[in-house]
Amino acid sequence: MKNATLRQRYATIALLLFFSGCHQAPQPSIAPEPAAQVPPADARVILFVIDGPRWTEIFGDSTHAHIPGMWNTLRPQGTLCTNFRNEGWTLTIPGHATMLTGIWQHLNNQGLERPKQPTLFEYYRKQRNAPPRDAVILSMKTKLDAVAYGLDSLYGEPYGASVEVGDSNDVETYAHLITHLDADSPHLVMASFSQVDLTGHANNWAGYLRHIEIVDSLAVLTWNHLQANPAYAGKTYLFITSDHGRHDDAHGGFQNHGDDCEGCRHIPFLALGPGIRAGNVTSTHHTQQDICKMVAKLLGITAGQAEGESFDDIFQTPPQAHAAAASP
Ligand SMILES: [Zn+2]
Ligand SMILES: [Zn+2]
Repeated sequence: MKNATLRQRYATIALLLFFSGCHQAPQPSIAPEPAAQVPPADARVILFVIDGPRWTEIFGDSTHAHIPGMWNTLRPQGTLCTNFRNEGWTLTIPGHATMLTGIWQHLNNQGLERPKQPTLFEYYRKQRNAPPRDAVILSMKTKLDAVAYGLDSLYGEPYGASVEVGDSNDVETYAHLITHLDADSPHLVMASFSQVDLTGHANNWAGYLRHIEIVDSLAVLTWNHLQANPAYAGKTYLFITSDHGRHDDAHGGFQNHGDDCEGCRHIPFLALGPGIRAGNVTSTHHTQQDICKMVAKLLGITAGQAEGESFDDIFQTPPQAHAAAASP
């Protein structure tokens, strides 16, 4: 009920601002960005995870040769964090689980352990009484089943994500993502694209670069699909990030990852959606821990056990400021 009331307040404020804006003189083109942004009612979140790219082949490459879509099409529409980090274990299961729980997770990387704390999927489904298909995790890597829910006895499997893993390649993961978006309009999705990591481990430099280029295209296609779908347009956040990087050249090179070298720790974070600053680049320090509470706030839920710092700086006006302003 509280969330519903808040959403009504957001909607009322948005309407008031819209109508008051109608009577104002045209703003000069140098006007500051509008300050009326709040999380839209019925907001949706897509976590788009690129498994294991190195910063130096993506946003850290001054030519951006392998990410033309994210650099030229998506970055101008959102905020790029250039100081986003995995400060825990730079491995797949720990990285994904940390994003979903807001707590550094030191878990077996073969998918043999689940996080002790609830995931975003569970917080969302329990607090919203949402059906299984409203929260989805997709990947080529079957072990990601381990992060669909955690071990907290008040949450767990009854509130976990629908799991679609074992795809044969990233394009198939994308196809399944679109299928789920169109069929069920889920509010919370984690889609993890594995082939950058797999070709890296195979020590296949050309393949590694090629799969960065492919997933770059898939990110643009995903965003464009969201904008063309009435269930998602104007109310959906797309967060493009990674579970970990790969060793920098001084610590073994691109083939593997898993230690605390800069190559493994420095990962991308590109945010798009209503109220997120457009064309913005920030060097503010953020980590994977910061994702969970931020996503929870956008979905109008709470992630009670999550840690992490505020992510409000990527928004035009912090959502909590609007919540406070909307209170009597
Ligand atoms: Zn990984
Ligand atoms: Zn490393």
